[in-house]
Amino acid sequence: MFDVKGIREDFPMLKKTMNGKPLIYFDTASTAQKPKVVIDTVRQFYEQEYGTVHRAIYPLVAYSTEMYSGVRSKVKAFINAKEEEEIVFTRGTTEAINLVAYSYARTFLKKGDEVIISEMEHHSNIVPWQLLAEEKKIKLKYIPMSLLGELRVDVFKELLSERTKLVSIAHISNATGTIHPIKEIIDLAHAAGAIVMIDGAQAASHLSLDMQELNADFYAFSGHKMYGPTGVGILYGKRELLEKMPPFMGGGDMVDIVTMEKSTYQEPPLRFEAGTPSIASVIGLGAAIDYIETIGRKAIQEWEQKLTLYAHERLGAIDGIRFFGTLKEKGPIISFMVQDIHPLDLGTLLGLKGVAIRTGHLCAQPTLKQLGVSSLARISFGLYNTFEEIDQVVHIIKEGTILLKPTHTG
Ligand code: PMP
Repeated sequence: MFDVKGIREDFPMLKKTMNGKPLIYFDTASTAQKPKVVIDTVRQFYEQEYGTVHRAIYPLVAYSTEMYSGVRSKVKAFINAKEEEEIVFTRGTTEAINLVAYSYARTFLKKGDEVIISEMEHHSNIVPWQLLAEEKKIKLKYIPMSLLGELRVDVFKELLSERTKLVSIAHISNATGTIHPIKEIIDLAHAAGAIVMIDGAQAASHLSLDMQELNADFYAFSGHKMYGPTGVGILYGKRELLEKMPPFMGGGDMVDIVTMEKSTYQEPPLRFEAGTPSIASVIGLGAAIDYIETIGRKAIQEWEQKLTLYAHERLGAIDGIRFFGTLKEKGPIISFMVQDIHPLDLGTLLGLKGVAIRTGHLCAQPTLKQLGVSSLARISFGLYNTFEEIDQVVHIIKEGTILLKPTHTG
């Protein structure tokens, strides 16, 4: 039995109120709440153990460095990477994607080459490629999506050519919740000679990840979406690729020898970790990984799937509701509109009742454009959500539809 009651006890924020009402937190796709063990680990580190990493010789530094590096091996195991050196600490998914765009793509792609992304990407997997395309005169192509939220793999096959040098795709769409067939996409791209980056921001806390099996060249995710602190993310990169990439940023820690004329750089991953890193956040991420592993990713995934199915069923009974993204293969994300009520009005009403949902363009304006809308309401779940919360929210939305229904006075 999945002990959701016990799990909820681990999350101090879930005991809070919002607008005087018990908080119902349905916005984990934006950022996840933190279990006490993560908060305590960070506090303990700052209160009792704090020192910098990689520099100086005194014991606090040795201890901090050991804790910090220990998380690298935890992440390696978490995603079944081959080597620890393939794990780069970044500040989040956004930085990880930018790192690949600036370091790998800027170096190895040239005028006339093509990058393929899709119509179902978060802005952070669009804008870095647009910047690159403009600078290097590279062509950016988009895999189209269907109205159900499915990527058109048939069209992808036609877009691929010897000019395709890089493909970058989300594992799970933050707008439709679709779990994309990334293994198929990776294999097709490789067969065409392209390398593949996967934006795993929405996947890392929901699916089991196996880098060796998946064979992606780069995979990015954020700590804060998997119950860890903000300010830390991961770029997984195949060692042979990281080794040939130039630094992304220059500064302390990433160098070997610096003279006034020139510098030489560390091997990966340190080459890509310039400056004092988010030490406490990295250590907190280690605690978050332990927490997820203790509960078990399979158990978490099953629970979240049940919640998602139930929510679709219960929300589906609301008069005039429209879902955006209804494929079977989907993560715990439900985007919708109710009648012609503006999502921002719905979000405001729910907020007043203590319910946190995401509303607006979901950082996926091109996706929403393809879906024919400019704003959506989005519910997303984490391991701590319950069926009762869904019942309550459905009830509030039903009441709200009466309250918020636009009156058409001729
Ligand atoms: N990609 C996807 C699919 C996301 O959902 C997000 C966060 N909403 C990001 C990238 C960016 O993550 P971060 O803001 O943590 O860098």
